[in-house]
Amino acid sequence: MSDAQPLLHPDAFAGKTAFITGGGTGLGLAVSTRLGRLGANVVCASRSVEHHEELIARGETHGFEVMSHELDVREPADVKRVVRDTCERFGRIDVLINNAAGNFVRPAMLLAPKGFKAVIDIALNGVFYVSREVGRRMREGGGTIVNISAPYATTGKPGVVHSACAKAGVEAMTRSLAAEWAPLGIRVNAVSPGPFVSHGAAERLWPSEEMERQVLGQIPLGRFGTAEEVAELVCVLASEATPWITGAVWLADGGWSLPQPIAEGDVARVVRRRSTDEQPDPRE
Ligand code: NAP
Repeated sequence: MSDAQPLLHPDAFAGKTAFITGGGTGLGLAVSTRLGRLGANVVCASRSVEHHEELIARGETHGFEVMSHELDVREPADVKRVVRDTCERFGRIDVLINNAAGNFVRPAMLLAPKGFKAVIDIALNGVFYVSREVGRRMREGGGTIVNISAPYATTGKPGVVHSACAKAGVEAMTRSLAAEWAPLGIRVNAVSPGPFVSHGAAERLWPSEEMERQVLGQIPLGRFGTAEEVAELVCVLASEATPWITGAVWLADGGWSLPQPIAEGDVARVVRRRSTDEQPDPRE
C-alpha cells in the first residue's frame, strides 16, 4: 500500500463539473470518486453504463452528483451529443479527464491490423474527438484537461506497439493543444503512470502470476502503483493548485522506465557487504 497523502483542499473542485471517459473502473473510478469528494459534479462516459454502478453508489454515499452516459469515444457524433447533454445539464465543463483506453499484450508480428487500429481509435483518436468537443465548450471561461499516457510512449516496450504509438500521439496532442489553447485559458497536461493495479490491467497486461512477478521485478521501488495515488496527481494537475503548468507530462512509475542494468538484489548485497566491511576503502 502507498502512504501518499492527499494534496488538495477538500473543496478544491466545489461547483465544478468534471467529465471523465472510462470513469467507472480502475484509474477512472479513482479519479471520478476523488473529484466528486473534492466537490465536483461528475460526468462518467463509457460504453457500458453497468460499469458506472459503483461510482453512482459512491456518489450517493459521499454526496456528489453523478451523470452517467453511454459513449463510445470512437464515435465523434456521439461525443458531440454527450458533451451537449452535459452542458445542458450543468451549464459548462470545467475539467476533462481523457482516461478511456484499450490495451492488451501482443507481439507486433502477431498483431492484426484490426487490433492495432482498434487501440489507436480508442486511445488516440477518441482523445482527440473528446478534447475537440469539450475544448469548444471551454472557449468561454477556460478549463483544464488531463490525459492519461504511459511511460512506454517515450521508452517503447515490447508487446505493446499499438498502445505505445497511441500514447506517444496523446503526449504530442497534450503539448500541441496546450500551446494552441493556452490563450483561451485552457491548460492541457498528462499523467504517465507505470504499472498500477486495476482489474483491466491485471487481466490484460499481467494475466498470470509469473507475468505479474516479472513486471514487479522491473519496478525499482518494489511495488505496483495504486489507482488512488495516480488519481491524486491527476486531480492536482486538473486543479487550480497548478495554474502555471501546461503541456507537462508527469511521470509516476516507481522507476519502471529507468534503465535497469544491475541484476535484482545486487545493489542491496553490495551495500550490506560494504557497510559491514572493517577495512575502509583507501580511495575514500
Ligand atoms: P480499465 O479499468 O480497463 O479502464 C479503461 C476504461 O476505458 C474502462 O472504464 C472502459 O469502460 C473505458 N473504455 C474502453 N474503451 C472505451 C471506448 N471505446 N469508449 C469509451 N470508454 C471506453 O483500465 P485502467 O488500468 O484503469 O486504465 C486507465 C488508463 O490508465 C488508460 O488510459 C490506460 O492506458 C492507462 N494506464 C494504465 C496502466 C496500468 O498499469 N493499469 C499503466 C499505464 C497507463 P467501458 O468498458 O464501459 O467502455
